[in-house]
This record gives sequence, C-alpha cells and structure tokens, in this order.
Amino acid sequence: MAEGLRFACQPGCIACCTQKGFVYLTEADAQRIAEFLGLSARAFEKRYCYRTRRQLRLRVPREAQCHFLREGGCSIHAVKPTQCRIFPFWPELAKSRAEWRKTARYCPGIGQGPLIQIESARAEAQEMREAYPAMYP
Ligand code: SF4
Repeated sequence: MAEGLRFACQPGCIACCTQKGFVYLTEADAQRIAEFLGLSARAFEKRYCYRTRRQLRLRVPREAQCHFLREGGCSIHAVKPTQCRIFPFWPELAKSRAEWRKTARYCPGIGQGPLIQIESARAEAQEMREAYPAMYP
C-alpha cells in the first residue's frame, strides 16, 4: 500500500466482533482481562479460554461470537485483547489492498477519518506480529 490508509472506528458498530474466527490472547491480555473481571488468571482461563500447545484463545459461546459482546458493544473494551485493539491493522490486511478492500465490506470504518500514515499502520502490524508469534512465524 503506497501512502496510507484511511480508518476511523464508527461509534455503535460491532461488525468486526461478529465475524467468524477466533480471538487469540497474549498472556498479558489474559492477565489484564482477568483482573478487570475480578477473577484469578486461572479462573478466567478455565471459564473463558481454550489453550493449545502454542496459543491461548477465547472460547466461542454457542449462541454468539464472543462471551464479552453486549448489544452496546464490547463489555471489556478498556482491556480488550491485542488483536481486537489493533484491528483492522492486522499484517495480512494492512499489506494487501485486496484484503483491505474485502475487510471494508463489513467494516464501515475503513475509508473514513484521517489518513493513517503507512508507517503507523506498519507499526501496528508489527505489534500484532510480536504479540502472536505462533500466528506470524
Ligand atoms: S467493524 Fe470497523 S467500524 Fe465497526 S467496530 Fe469494527 S473496527 Fe469499528
């Protein structure tokens, strides 16, 4: 992508939270969210997470895409997982015009707001890579 990307999250929108897919957590994410919920890290993980050998992710409840999504939005917004905070500047989206356009089909924030300089977009993508080394080997 040449010069930059336009993006501004739209108030009241929860479209990205309802897409199919998993929400992965860093260990710091899990710790922060547990504290926010007043749970021990162990209790939080037992109740809400699924751990594989290399990754930790939120369980997907039967009737929704995320345990923490309410009608008004994310109930853990202040401490939300890294991948949610960085969206839509995920490496696979920010580096491909086609993927960015595809994401714009459900994210009305894409194409709105200020032009985000490509360096800032790349820095966000890099943070994502570093946060989830198993996803971006
Ligand atoms: S889909 Fe886009 S505009 Fe809507 S909440 Fe997610 S980031 Fe914001």
